[in-house]
Amino acid sequence: THALTDTATRELRERTETLLRRLGVDTPEPGELRARTPITGGELITLRASDSAEVQAAIGRADAAFRDWRTVPAPQRAAVVRRLAALLTERQRELGELVTLEAGKIGAEARGEVQEMIDVCEFAIGLSRQLYGRTMPSERPGHRLMETWHPLGVVGVISAFNFPVAVWAWNTAIALVCGDTVVWKPSEATPLTALACHALLRRAAVDVGADPEVHQLIQGPAAVGEQLVDDPRVALVSATGSVRMGQLVAPRVAARFGRCLLELGGNNAAIVAPSADLELATRGIVFAAAGTAGQRCTTLRRLIVHADVAEPLLNRISAAYRQLRVGNPLEEGVLVGPLINERAYDGMCAALERALADGGELLCGGERFEGPDENAFYVRPALVRMPAQTEVVREETFAPILYAMTYRDLDTAIDLHNAVPQGLSSSIFTREQREAERFLAADGSDCGIANVNIGTSGAEIGGAFGGEKQTGGGRESGSDSWKAYMRRATNTVNYSTELPLAQGIRFE
Ligand code: NAD
Repeated sequence: THALTDTATRELRERTETLLRRLGVDTPEPGELRARTPITGGELITLRASDSAEVQAAIGRADAAFRDWRTVPAPQRAAVVRRLAALLTERQRELGELVTLEAGKIGAEARGEVQEMIDVCEFAIGLSRQLYGRTMPSERPGHRLMETWHPLGVVGVISAFNFPVAVWAWNTAIALVCGDTVVWKPSEATPLTALACHALLRRAAVDVGADPEVHQLIQGPAAVGEQLVDDPRVALVSATGSVRMGQLVAPRVAARFGRCLLELGGNNAAIVAPSADLELATRGIVFAAAGTAGQRCTTLRRLIVHADVAEPLLNRISAAYRQLRVGNPLEEGVLVGPLINERAYDGMCAALERALADGGELLCGGERFEGPDENAFYVRPALVRMPAQTEVVREETFAPILYAMTYRDLDTAIDLHNAVPQGLSSSIFTREQREAERFLAADGSDCGIANVNIGTSGAEIGGAFGGEKQTGGGRESGSDSWKAYMRRATNTVNYSTELPLAQGIRFE
């Protein structure tokens, strides 16, 4: 089987080199950073991590580029993003395939991730003409009161392995039209897709005559990210990853009064009410819980189902789980690819063990899928019936485990729903309007995303994306999330010949 693995890895390596070339990436200098594919667990390419001087220099170049970039009119800045969208459209298949090779996503999801990049570019292009400030009635005659939104500065983007390209695009497309420059530290697990995005963006800038230095890429482990976090020239640190990472990053940025935008872990739940359309709920649940092998921040991890429909629902989910094809994400028809690495697999096993010790019953899945590669980790999504929401259920395990609990009245279900430290995404499946509205109300779901009759994952870019509590409170992508990437100035203009003071104060 080793020979088979070696051949497979060699083929994947050749494919990777071809894709990188087609995406405009020069062969990187070999180094200590190892790009692996979770498909076989084999090594694709090695490259150098950025050293401290290189990180310094990259931040310096982004800071210098900002001086001019901030004065380019926003609709002109959008030209870079428009060109990036065109290049992404041309290269959607290649970049998607690289996402599959490096992150293990199935083709449809990998191409969908690139589609999301194109969508957010389009959103940012429109936004470039809508960076609206308000005007307010002044309390003084002959005065005008208004607010202006200005570019903020260098944005440091730290991203996670599981959305290696879309999260970068959410941040970068919007930061660029807002007049900011970007320094990106991608996950050390996905350096190759980062090289591709960086090359595409620089090419887009050159093609439209903009300064390519508006985007900088630095590569390496957490320590490289830390340098970005601590640098006072970085006005905003937009960090996506685990709660643990956020807990380390936030106080350091706060210590220098920098701004933080945090997109951290989730522990997303769905409530299934007695009136739910069980057919539709099952489809929504299976995609949200098993899709991307449970490695989305919005993955459905907890099911709170009414006791009257628990049996039929869990039977349907088990049946659907048994039919899911787990395997090589390059193969047509496979719906669940590999876990990113052995650590993720160990985490899944440990969580399952704890759940069973807490009285959980494994209804299906959970076993490692027998592939030819000992370094590749394919698992069948697990469905576990829990007697209570124990500690392990309240934690985010970044693997496909769905814990099911039952309830009798909606108040208890909502209490259970909100009784976790994270607050990213949530849903209710019901045909009762009262229940749906209650779930969306002030005393309903406490998450940043609350859905009705649709799963917890797969958000559209038009809405603001992010969550509360330990998820970090940040919002990215659509709606007015752009405000995090700009600074607001309040302007009072006196066009009279008098100098009346606010609050009627007399000073003479
Ligand atoms: P991770 O926290 O291990 O790493 C994320 C990034 O942070 C990486 O680039 C890493 O190098 C960097 N990093 C880690 N410690 C750092 C430090 N002290 N200073 C600076 N940078 C540091 O996360 P991961 O395993 O790559 O991704 C999975 C996690 O990300 C899950 O918890 C998932 O829920 C979360 N996630 C959240 C969102 C969201 O939008 N809320 C989106 C995707 C993933």
